Amino acid sequence: MTDFDVDLFVVGAGSGGVRAARVAAGHGARVAIAEEFRVGGTCVIRGCVPKKLMVYASRFRDEFEDAAGFGWTIPEMAFDWPKLVAAKEREISRLSAIYRTNLEKAGVAMIDSRAEIEDPNTIILGDGRRLGAKTILVATGGTPVLEPDIPGRELAITSNEVFDLAVMPQRLLIVGAGYISVEFASIFTRLGSKVAIASRGENVLRGFDDDMRCGVRDALVEEGVEMHFSHLPTRIEKIDGGLRVHLTSGLQLDVNQVMLATGRLPHTRGLGLERAGVTLDSVGAVIVDDFSRSNVNSIYAVGDVTNRLQLTPIAIREGHAFADTVFGGKTTAVDHAHVPTAVFTTPELGAVGLTETQAREACDCVDVYQASFRPLKATLSGRTEKTMMKIVVDGRTDVVLGVHILGEGAAELAQVLAIAIRLGAKKADFDATIAVHPTSAEELVTMRTRTARFERAIAGPEAPDAVDAEFLEG
Ligand SMILES: Cc1cc2nc3c(=O)[nH]c(=O)nc-3n(C[C@H](O)[C@H](O)[C@H](O)COP(=O)(O)OP(=O)(O)OC[C@H]3O[C@@H](n4cnc5c(N)ncnc54)[C@H](O)[C@@H]3O)c2cc1C
Repeated sequence: MTDFDVDLFVVGAGSGGVRAARVAAGHGARVAIAEEFRVGGTCVIRGCVPKKLMVYASRFRDEFEDAAGFGWTIPEMAFDWPKLVAAKEREISRLSAIYRTNLEKAGVAMIDSRAEIEDPNTIILGDGRRLGAKTILVATGGTPVLEPDIPGRELAITSNEVFDLAVMPQRLLIVGAGYISVEFASIFTRLGSKVAIASRGENVLRGFDDDMRCGVRDALVEEGVEMHFSHLPTRIEKIDGGLRVHLTSGLQLDVNQVMLATGRLPHTRGLGLERAGVTLDSVGAVIVDDFSRSNVNSIYAVGDVTNRLQLTPIAIREGHAFADTVFGGKTTAVDHAHVPTAVFTTPELGAVGLTETQAREACDCVDVYQASFRPLKATLSGRTEKTMMKIVVDGRTDVVLGVHILGEGAAELAQVLAIAIRLGAKKADFDATIAVHPTSAEELVTMRTRTARFERAIAGPEAPDAVDAEFLEG
């Protein structure tokens, strides 16, 4: 007998929450899950899935254009945005329904309501009902940052709204230069919008390998995206037929939409966590240990709300590990190393492991193998686009530390390369692997010539602090 209504109450039916609820129920726990918006969460409803559908839509433009080089005659292209939005909506509704059915099949009680935390073992629902829970899992995800905080900010949209615009913006300004910004710049440019990016930094995609960042930036510029680096909006005002944006450079841009893509914050505001004694970090993320447990014994958190790595597969893995640990008798921690990632611009970026800069900070000797080439398809299509590949190697042990690819299929390659890197593959293993020909990926196993070596000068007795020593470029 127990005094609690449920063994586990999950707040938020997104990637992490749904997985945790289903697995915990499978281990025999009595589970309830609350969702205030739509089952499936950010990834399914207004993140990865609809975005990838829009990426596919945008890439048809390149295919139609390229086809001529291969002998095809394509009638005039025309694109219908409302048709794409409606098709996208059908697909995410189908997926959301599957998530709901799977939860119900697993025996999880679905509650369509906002939930807040009253104390370490009590949940309050939107209608005021209270439920006792032995364990609470916070899986409330993240929410777009509404910055910069400038006059007229309320006229801007975020990624939450962009998927369902009634009309496709002819002219769009995206503020920010992270992966969401560049992905939407690439999508809308191909669909026919005139896109500009304004950002505080001097390049796109902070945190990715520098050469790949430049490659993405150059590809966007080549497609006609206007870049306003080191300049942010100071004011947005309504004008006839659109919006006028004033930039710190003094420039004014007249557009139809402004999209803020300046980051995402953990979704903890008003959730009652502080009231329950849960410690949050400076950006509001729930601080958890390796097993996703907060400082309050009965409260756990997984996914974006913990601000570890904001990716769907991470949220899913953390949710699964939590359920196995707490309800399955199998203590499991998630390994956050060697996580492959992708940026779905066109061309796309796939990466796993350390960037060149990170490797040079971490290792005494770093070898870089780099290739940039025109893919075979481009020879007949006439496209100027280049494929770039970079392998970052520990020069002392020959272990591959990171691989970075900009080009068609890069995301798919990153997935497979992550297995090799996880297994500790050496550059010699890449070299010993037979190529698949003719592919772009064969370059990964045929790059024999080192393009650079960065070596920290060996510290002698007269140079006691090796950390201060210079890197010598070879
Ligand atoms: C535009 C965009 C593109 C992205 N693309 C990718 C990609 O290509 N690949 C990738 O891996 N990741 C991508 N992501 C990130 C990915 O969507 C998230 O990492 C993932 O969804 C996190 O899962 P989660 O379970 O932590 O939170 P979420 O999926 O956000 O789920 C949280 C859920 O909790 C609900 N909720 C919040 N508060 C409450 C409350 N008080 N009561 C009840 N319910 C509540 C929310 O409505 C939401 O449904 C993208 C994100 C965005 C915004």
